[in-house]
Amino acid sequence: MRILVTGGAGFVPSHLCERLLTDGHDVVAVDNFVTGHRRNLAVLEKHPRFSFVEADVTKVLPVDGRVDRIFHMASPASPIDYVQLPFETLYAGSDATRIGLERAQADGARFLLASTSEVYGDPAVHPQVESYWGNVNPIGPRSVYDEAKRYGEALTMAFHRYHGVQTRIVRIFNTYGPRMRANDGRVMPAFCSQALRGEPLTVFGAGNQTRSFCYVTDLVDGIVRLMESDLTEPCNVGNPHEMTMLELAEYINQFTGNKAGIVHRPLPTDDPTQRKPDITRARTTLGWEPKVPFAEGVERTVAYFREILA
Ligand code: NAD
Ligand code: UDP
Repeated sequence: MRILVTGGAGFVPSHLCERLLTDGHDVVAVDNFVTGHRRNLAVLEKHPRFSFVEADVTKVLPVDGRVDRIFHMASPASPIDYVQLPFETLYAGSDATRIGLERAQADGARFLLASTSEVYGDPAVHPQVESYWGNVNPIGPRSVYDEAKRYGEALTMAFHRYHGVQTRIVRIFNTYGPRMRANDGRVMPAFCSQALRGEPLTVFGAGNQTRSFCYVTDLVDGIVRLMESDLTEPCNVGNPHEMTMLELAEYINQFTGNKAGIVHRPLPTDDPTQRKPDITRARTTLGWEPKVPFAEGVERTVAYFREILA
C-alpha cells in the first residue's frame, strides 16, 4: 500500500514509518519539525520506498497521487510542548484532522487518528475503559491538547457516520523508547537524562500519581493492527503495568546507579492523579497485548539517551 504518515519526524511516528516500511509498504511522511527532529528520519531516508515532505499539515497536505492509508500522528505531545505551542496543538487536533479526513474521503483511503489517554482527563474511573467519557478541564493549560484531541475524535466519527469514510481512533497511553527528545519534559526522558548526568530526579508533587508505560514497538504494533481491523470505535493501546512516579524515579536511579536521589518540584496544574488502560478491547478485537518487559524497554531507552547525551 501507499501510506501517508503525518508527523513522521517525531518519536512514535518515526517508529511507525519504520514498521510500515518493514511490512513492505511505500511510506510518505510529512512534518514541519515543530517538535520532531531530522535525526529521526536518518534510518528511514536510507529506504527506497520512503519519501519525505516538509509542510505544516494544519494548512496543507502536499502529497501527490492517491494514498491507501493515512495515519494522522502530527501533534505536539508533551505537556511542556503543548503549553508552549497552544495554537499549534489546537490546530493539529482540529484543522489537520479535518484536512486528513477530507483527503481520506477524496482518495477512498482509510484514516487513523492518534488520540490519547488525555481524553479521559483526570479520570474518576480506573482503569480507563473506552466507554468512560472522561473528566477534562475545558479551559485549563492542558485543554489545548485534551480538547483538540476530543474534537478530533468527534470529527473523525462524523466523517465516518455522515460521509462513510473508513476511520480508526487509537487512544495512546504513555509510551517511551528511543527517539524521544532528552529535553521534551516528559517523565521518562527527564529521569533518564537527569540520572545519566548524575543529577537528582525531579519528582513533581509527592510522586504518588501513577502512569502505565508502554514500549514504543508494542504501541506501533497495536496501531498497525487497529488500522487493519474493522473497529471504528476508539481503542486504548497501552501497557497496564502501573507505577507511581516515585517508584519510577527509584527504579531509574537504581538501574543507572545514580546516587543523586530525587528532588520534589511543584505539581503542574491538572496533572492526572492516576492512569492505566483497560486493554480488553485491544486484546479481544485486535489480538494485541504488550510484549516488551519494562526492564528491557528501560535498558534500550537508557542506552539511547547515553548515546545522544555523550
Ligand atoms: P512527537 O512530538 O515526537 O511527534 C509529533 C510529530 O508531529 C513531530 O515530529 C512534529 O514536528 C510533528 N508535527 C506537529 N505539528 C505538525 C504540523 N502542524 N505539521 C507537520 N508536522 C507536525 O510526539 P509523539 O510522542 O511521537 O506523539 C505522536 C502522536 O501520538 C501525537 O499525535 C500524540 O498526541 C500521540 N500520543 C503520544 C503519546 C506518547 O506517550 N508518546 C501518548 C498519547 C498520544
Ligand atoms: N513528572 C515528574 N517529573 C518530571 C516530569 C514529569 O514527576 O520531570 C510527572 C508528571 O507530573 C506526571 C507524570 O510524571 O504526573 C507523567 O508526566 P509526562 O509529562 O511524562 O506525561 P503525562 O502523562 O502527564 O502527559
